Amino acid sequence: MNTLLLHCRPGFEGEVCAEIAEHAARLEVAGYAKSKPSSAHAEFICSEDGGAQRLMQGLKFSRLIFPRQWARGGYVQLPETDRISVLLASLAAYPVCGSLWLEVLDTNDGKELSNFCKKFEAPLRKALMGAGRLVEDTSKPRLLLTFKSGREVFLGLAEANNSAIWPMGIPRLKFPREAPSRSTLKLEEAWHTFIPREQWDTRLSDEMTGVDLGAAPGGWTYQLVKRGMLVTAIDNGPMAESLMDTGLVQHLMVDGFTWKPKQPVDWMVCDIVEKPARNAALLESWIGEGHCREAVVNLKLPMKQRYAEVRRLLLRLEESFAARKIRVSIACKQLYHDREEVTCHLRRL
Ligand code: SAM
Repeated sequence: MNTLLLHCRPGFEGEVCAEIAEHAARLEVAGYAKSKPSSAHAEFICSEDGGAQRLMQGLKFSRLIFPRQWARGGYVQLPETDRISVLLASLAAYPVCGSLWLEVLDTNDGKELSNFCKKFEAPLRKALMGAGRLVEDTSKPRLLLTFKSGREVFLGLAEANNSAIWPMGIPRLKFPREAPSRSTLKLEEAWHTFIPREQWDTRLSDEMTGVDLGAAPGGWTYQLVKRGMLVTAIDNGPMAESLMDTGLVQHLMVDGFTWKPKQPVDWMVCDIVEKPARNAALLESWIGEGHCREAVVNLKLPMKQRYAEVRRLLLRLEESFAARKIRVSIACKQLYHDREEVTCHLRRL
């Protein structure tokens, strides 16, 4: 039970190690982080009993940048047949759980294993419920089984309200056929990630106004328009006709880094591919000077020191808002739909 397993996008294992090691040091949880390149996961091995649990309790999953999912536990080797008996025996050391997710890693091997998981889930669930190891209760920990192969599984636990909101942290969002670009899913995922569903009607309402910097052809504008907002779309490139036909979009061919609205708006979103420091500076001025109340902005990651650079920029934002004496909530995640980038969400409180 002394390992913390963290899922991530393949290629970002080093960032997860750096991030979790930094938090562990701050929380004085002894141990070390390890990973293999492109394995889509990292582990933090705690040297003391209860270390992994302490680490999870001291952290908010939603505040972590690179991990997509996490669980504390350990590996169990499985036989070719009757895996369920072995799992039941291993679970004797675990508390009764309130929900069950079967997960795989985001690798080719993982994708192949997902069919096995789909078939295995129903009989396992039945056996766990029959044995009293699983009940329906969201206040109890979630049992997360990450299969590395049919013969090896990480038997993990995580609090349902302090872990990924989707299995493996991967949303199943349907691409809306009428949207002008696939990146529309990035903003939709950002909203699911950063805004509790029950607040969508007030925080993404049709009485609001938004600005989309670097808007063309309009995938992000499409999301704002879908919520009924009046949108100013800034880009030298052309916007999709279908969006312009809604009458909700004003298209300005100006520079997104210098243009500011005459009146404050509710939302600013920005998907311009630029140096991350430049996009962070946009956040600083738009939120800091009160041009918008909430913002979603992508930060393209540098080639090296990706975690360190994101931390540096976030820290700079925190310091700038503190100096201006304004309260701002800052969150940053590498979303499933992000590639070499992370998505920041800021909200003036
Ligand atoms: N979010 C868009 C969507 O969902 O369809 C895609 C945006 S695309 C990744 C980046 C856009 O930023 C390009 O259309 C580009 O023309 C625009 N862009 C780049 N530099 C800009 C600037 N300084 N001001 C405004 N737009 C800019």
